[in-house]
Amino acid sequence: MIRFVGAGPGAVDLVTVRGARLLAQADLVIYAGSLVNPELLELTSPTCSIMDSASMTLEEVVGAMEDAEAKGWSTVRLHTGDPALYGAIREQMDELDRRGISYDVTPGVSSLFGAAAALGAEFTLPGVSQSLVVTRAEGRTPVPAGESLASMAKHGCTLALFLSTGLLSKVEADLKEGGVDASTPAAIVYKATWPDQRVFRCTAGTLAKTARDAGISKTALVLVGRFLGSEYDRSLLYHPGFSHGFRLAGEGSRAASDQASGSAALRHTPEMGAS
Ligand code: SAH
Repeated sequence: MIRFVGAGPGAVDLVTVRGARLLAQADLVIYAGSLVNPELLELTSPTCSIMDSASMTLEEVVGAMEDAEAKGWSTVRLHTGDPALYGAIREQMDELDRRGISYDVTPGVSSLFGAAAALGAEFTLPGVSQSLVVTRAEGRTPVPAGESLASMAKHGCTLALFLSTGLLSKVEADLKEGGVDASTPAAIVYKATWPDQRVFRCTAGTLAKTARDAGISKTALVLVGRFLGSEYDRSLLYHPGFSHGFRLAGEGSRAASDQASGSAALRHTPEMGAS
């Protein structure tokens, strides 16, 4: 059985409890050496075999899995963050299907959320952005037609760019083409949650210079949008004048909220949920 496991963004204690258990039980761990924190390998048993996939091809990775399977071993394929984002797991799963080898996936904390935590930011601010676009700039890996950064930027929502730190001049041009003002707040988060994490706040027009000055060209996420600004609406969910399935707006609190917001009491809309 092959266990695909999300390693989390970097900090060793951000792997899930299940992921840590699978690592402890593994006979073979194949880890994505360029990004996974090697300290996670200390969670394995002394007899566990370790392979770094950074220099391996898909065929070699799946071949090693097949060999381990023939020995009755338990294999962990350890991917950075969550394996479902830029993890190239689909091609491994399809190859395992072809060879009749079973597998499952244990999710991980994506660096996307490590970066939000580092910034103390919320991607989905009321009145600012209720959508998050996770994408990348086009480099050696093409981006499908219809997903150009300029077209994504046109939505004006929160943008998170993976794998793009070496392409920031192009990113700036694409954002401009997409109507993003050069003064729009932005940030570069390098090695989110690692001990040497660094956070750079800048604007959509100063991304390239910021990365250049800091000497950063990889292992960073680029975040762009007014969610990094100071203005937003308070949430209805915790508004004293707003009733929902778990809380009734009280008369007293309604008066307080009217006073605070200067608006009429807020209406309950059934589709608004708690999370
Ligand atoms: N599956 C991973 C992403 C792998 S793609 C995840 O969910 O996070 C590799 C890219 O992810 C890097 O080029 C960088 O853009 C980003 N990345 C991975 N770890 C990071 C970290 N700790 N801090 C900032 N960006 C990171």
